[in-house]
Amino acid sequence: MTVRVRFAPSPTGDIHVGNIRTALFNWAYARHEGGTFVFRVEDTDIERSTEASYLGVVDALNWLGLSWDEGPDVGGPYGPYKQSERTGIYAEVAAKLASSTHAYPCYCTTEEVEARNKISGRQPGYDNHCRELSTSQLDAFIASGRKPALRLRMPDRAITFDDLIRGPVTFEQEFVPDYVLVRADGNPLYTLVNPVDDALMLITHVLRGEDLLSSTPRQIALYEALGNIGVTDGRMPLFGHLPFVMGEGNKKLSKRDPESSLMLYRDRGFLPEALLNYLALVGWSMGEDRELFSLQEMVDAFTLERVSRNPARFDLKKCEAINGVKIRELPPDEVAHRILPFLQRVDLIADPPTSDQLRLLAGGAPLVQERITVLSEAVGMLGFLFVADSAFTPDAEAAAKHLNAEAAPVLAVSLGALEPLEDWHADAIKAALESALITGLGLKPRSAFAPLRVAVTGRTVSPPLFESMELLGREHSLGRLARALVAARG
Ligand code: GLU
Repeated sequence: MTVRVRFAPSPTGDIHVGNIRTALFNWAYARHEGGTFVFRVEDTDIERSTEASYLGVVDALNWLGLSWDEGPDVGGPYGPYKQSERTGIYAEVAAKLASSTHAYPCYCTTEEVEARNKISGRQPGYDNHCRELSTSQLDAFIASGRKPALRLRMPDRAITFDDLIRGPVTFEQEFVPDYVLVRADGNPLYTLVNPVDDALMLITHVLRGEDLLSSTPRQIALYEALGNIGVTDGRMPLFGHLPFVMGEGNKKLSKRDPESSLMLYRDRGFLPEALLNYLALVGWSMGEDRELFSLQEMVDAFTLERVSRNPARFDLKKCEAINGVKIRELPPDEVAHRILPFLQRVDLIADPPTSDQLRLLAGGAPLVQERITVLSEAVGMLGFLFVADSAFTPDAEAAAKHLNAEAAPVLAVSLGALEPLEDWHADAIKAALESALITGLGLKPRSAFAPLRVAVTGRTVSPPLFESMELLGREHSLGRLARALVAARG
């Protein structure tokens, strides 16, 4: 059997890290098994689905490098892969179900069902009222002009299945009433189209979030019906429900939580490989407490036995820590390449960059690589290299604290020590300044260098000072020190 799995998001709103975790596990399973990863777009909810949201999902998968073998754009033998383009298929299946004993027309309104439940005191949910309508009842409904929904008749038994992650799961019959497949207005629902597509696309393993566990018994009943009416050969996928992703305060991470939006991670400068490494740990483990690995290593090790049944916590701190490690593992020129768009976004570097900007970027990247946890932090740290001296203004708070009257002699002595320096390299700059400020003025390094740092980089936290000055160049460094001296003297 060739493994065929799918990622089937509904394009409503921003893609969520929980969705990506689902995509990742399906993708890794397909790759591990040498199977097929199908990307299907569940956009039958026309009111809530948007093209922008769909494009966001595509963009996210591309950014993360989770490539699909069948789906929109690439096509495949079981397409189309957008449900909005498959309405003819659903209408045909619905008609077959409607003319079989597996489904029946239901004329009830929600209010009628609720009113009956209130009187009978039964639990909320459908009471299977229209299951056995008499011919006269049916005629009366037809005569009244009401349009029926189509409901699946659930089998008269409990439904048990062997969840790939949770083991045997049973749903008693009373908790799974007959359910709507096609709304009275003719729109097919998720309850119909999702299993129909899984069946027609020959999906072998349905791996999805635990929130969908309760829809599985219904879908199993529908699979059986589809087999009985000859839409399929009766095959049924295996199901595995991935543990909930929990956020702050041990609450289920919801779409509304700010840390759930994938694009936020991209904007802050998470590396796709770091985010995937972290998301792999949200409900799966490689074993031996291994927390850092490449995507290929994850694929090689990915089995469903190692997926946990327990809710998994999304730990932002850990995600950041992994990102920092992955940034440090990159070759410095790659760090430069990844930082570039962040500096371009705020117009510090032109698009395309000038050769001088590229030189500064290449020199700056190794200076910040050890100091950032997300790429966007490089903007603040390296910004000073890309601003013209005339437009350069140190951070106001830092200036107030460090470029004051007390700093004036430090700046003046530094200028005196640096001006005659012929060799403008970090080591020489360091030696000249240490001898002038530490030995000469008897200052502690901290108080000696803080004003210089603010004068040259504009901030109290910056890349290493002497390397920064070397990279910025003699003329700009001395110019900034001189301006700071004027400011310090007030
Ligand atoms: N479209 C469904 C969702 O995004 C996916 C259902 C499934 O994976 O079976 O929740």
